[in-house]
Amino acid sequence: MATEKIYERDVYRTEQTAAITSLEPVENGFLLTLDKTIFAPSGGGQDRDKGYINAFHITDIYEKDGEIYHKVAVKKGLWFPKTGETANLLLDWNTRFSNMQRHTGEHILSGAFYELYKGVNKGFHMGDDYMTIDIDSEEPVTWDMALRAESYSNKVIWENLPVTTLNIDKREDAKDIPLRKALTLLEDIKIVCVGNPANPADCVACCGTHVAFTGEVGIIKVYKAEKNKDLYRIYFDAGRRAYEKLAVIYEQAQSLGVHYSTQPENIFDRILAREEKEQAVRNRLYNLTQSIIKERQKEIESSMASGTNVFTYNDLPLNDLVKIGNGLTSVIPLVLVIIQEEEKAALLFSDGKKADCNKLVKDTAPVFNGKGGGNKESARAFFTTLDNLMTFVDALNKHLR
Ligand SMILES: [Zn+2]
Repeated sequence: MATEKIYERDVYRTEQTAAITSLEPVENGFLLTLDKTIFAPSGGGQDRDKGYINAFHITDIYEKDGEIYHKVAVKKGLWFPKTGETANLLLDWNTRFSNMQRHTGEHILSGAFYELYKGVNKGFHMGDDYMTIDIDSEEPVTWDMALRAESYSNKVIWENLPVTTLNIDKREDAKDIPLRKALTLLEDIKIVCVGNPANPADCVACCGTHVAFTGEVGIIKVYKAEKNKDLYRIYFDAGRRAYEKLAVIYEQAQSLGVHYSTQPENIFDRILAREEKEQAVRNRLYNLTQSIIKERQKEIESSMASGTNVFTYNDLPLNDLVKIGNGLTSVIPLVLVIIQEEEKAALLFSDGKKADCNKLVKDTAPVFNGKGGGNKESARAFFTTLDNLMTFVDALNKHLR
């Protein structure tokens, strides 16, 4: 015997008594069928309802041959249902209503893409963080087009249009209905129309649960539009979920606004302006560093003597010190050593003929717990203490004398 599906004619019923028509013990509970139910199984891309039977949590709902099966989690010994017994059904209304808002929202947005661009929804996914529809469109769907569809959809919501479900026995009975998508079922078809069925905002076959008036959807927000194979994937949400996400984002924008001393709607411009200033500072720093490098090179060149020349510069990072030495290799008498004390590093430079910097580091640094390397013209050695570094430099001095 088929279950009477109350949710199909009264989507707002949250409580109901029903007679148990069959039961089967399963792991951690029972599988029940009822003479009638307010719980919808998964369908139309929409997840199943949540709720309770005699205050026991429903863990699965599915339909088979017109019968709705409810899997109920019952701790051993707490309840042993009997066929014919009356059970109390309680729907998790928050979850259901959110599903109804989202599902109806999907119809409205799909209808908007169809109305505005003749784009056809070829795939629907309802996830935890967002929903997606895959639009088949000749014209590439841009972000601006998606925003226009969003705006159109929200107008449909504010018009508070009726959402009606037409029950059609046979496919040919639907031939005069302006459907967005061709029917795939032959009989017992449910067609959901948003607005006046003679001239609807959307009309399509669907077996999910929907609100009675579009105003209940509250809001539709598009998050992203991107190309997905041959289709255009639109990420969006509707109703409470959309509001909750926007509220979180606004909270972030509000904090950023305080941080940047501006209104949330001006943050982007403020960040761009700050980046521009930062870039100018970086450019100035680069130019200043280049002048310092040139000055240091002049200073070293004018004071270099034969043998090992040692200079210490702690005000520039290693990469800039390397530039100083690399620019001098052709004029170095034997070896130039630049020390950076903070990094406990010694940079060695030579013309690559009279001395081999890499070999000097590889042979000598390990003796003083140092390591490093490079090539003939340039090498770097790092030490664990400044003492080790200085002893290494002394040893080099003596070795190269
Ligand atoms: Zn639907």
